[in-house]
Amino acid sequence: RNWGESGLPDNLLKIVDQVGYTEPSPIQRAAIPIALQSRDLIGVAVTGSGKTASFLLPLLVYISKLPPLDARNRQDGPYALVLAPTRELAQQIEVEAKKFAGPLGFRTAVIVGGHSIEEQAFAMRDGAEIIIATPGRLVDCIERRVLVLSQCCYIIMDEADRMIDFGFEIDLTKILDALPVSNEKPDSDLAEDSDAMSRQLYRQTMMYTATMPIQVERIARKYLRRPAIVTI
Ligand code: AMP
Repeated sequence: RNWGESGLPDNLLKIVDQVGYTEPSPIQRAAIPIALQSRDLIGVAVTGSGKTASFLLPLLVYISKLPPLDARNRQDGPYALVLAPTRELAQQIEVEAKKFAGPLGFRTAVIVGGHSIEEQAFAMRDGAEIIIATPGRLVDCIERRVLVLSQCCYIIMDEADRMIDFGFEIDLTKILDALPVSNEKPDSDLAEDSDAMSRQLYRQTMMYTATMPIQVERIARKYLRRPAIVTI
């Protein structure tokens, strides 16, 4: 019952070991193998459970299969998006993301209120595979055309119930509707073939929440495709 059974590739297992996570937590044990099968997922878990790494590690496996983000494609925006209710949570997620993404050479950018849009646009223009954002500020960036999501195919909604509490339901639907990529999954044998994967992008959507109010259920029904539900 250790990391070896998670299905993560060796390069990530090595990083996990270097970070010092000796054992996966229950949510990591349950969610990672499902996410690695390209399934959408609803994780019912609270802060402190290790939920952040449970979505970041499969995210990194997914974007590792895509072409490098460089001068040819960085104007098409990030590969992955993590949405969080508050600036503080977004920043915590970035700290966790950098531990694993840094050694792989992936970059992160945080888009939250309280900093100028210009400052954040600068980090994005440089090219970031992963953007971590609060919904309100992200919608601002999309509407002002500071950010496009033309190749964003991996979406996490963290603490979805709190995003609803903070009045972000409309912003969430605006963001999810702005995603270009189909949430139809490719054939499973295609997922083994990274060239084919990069030709046929598909969307993977994961939602984490502590509770399931009707508005959260509504978003899940509309934007997740036959999600696995993991409760710990
Ligand atoms: P989270 O619930 O994602 O906010 O994580 C809570 C804290 O647990 C964070 O400080 C993580 O760095 C840490 N953490 C997450 N997974 C593990 C693990 N498998 N072993 C040890 N610490 C962990």
